[in-house]
Amino acid sequence: MGLETALPSDSVLTTSLQRVVNWARRSSVWPMPFATACCGIELMATACSRFDLARFGAEVMRFSPRQADLMIVAGRVSVKTLPVLQRIYEQMAEPKWVISMGACASTGGVFDTYAVVQGVDQFIPVDVYVPGCPPRPEMLIEGIMAIQRIIDEEGIPRDPSGHRRPLNIALNPNYEPRAQPLPVTIGAT
Ligand code: SF4
Repeated sequence: MGLETALPSDSVLTTSLQRVVNWARRSSVWPMPFATACCGIELMATACSRFDLARFGAEVMRFSPRQADLMIVAGRVSVKTLPVLQRIYEQMAEPKWVISMGACASTGGVFDTYAVVQGVDQFIPVDVYVPGCPPRPEMLIEGIMAIQRIIDEEGIPRDPSGHRRPLNIALNPNYEPRAQPLPVTIGAT
């Protein structure tokens, strides 16, 4: 971290226990991928080398809910799948967080039908809504960083009755696509 070069080797740093716990928690968020559709592909890309979620300490995808503390719902959830989603959420370790990734998870998206859940926040508490269809990996990373910022600054936010409240953070779509590096021609010989 560069501290060893900035400080004498026999230096002592003091801090509060709460800050150390917050730092450790935000640096080791372990996601539980609940990927049901195309958004799942972007979730996979987020963990790959180009976007490298490991830079944020959150690349350790766990497929056992008891080893995970961040559920990422990526894709539409059918009514038939909903009990599975709820059971997995219940089995996850506290403190736990939820990201709703993409239009389908947050609102049902284009699937305005009785068979698709019109927003998972009706059934589990959602902390961050990541917009897009699908969201790019940068947007998902921003969502994870939003949770990390809250953990770092506030620990685990609770309401006056002591219950953990959902963060209810909705990200703004802010990704501007870059121009293609080469002109695209279709049908040219
Ligand atoms: S939001 Fe778009 S990309 Fe994501 S699951 Fe729905 S249709 Fe697919």
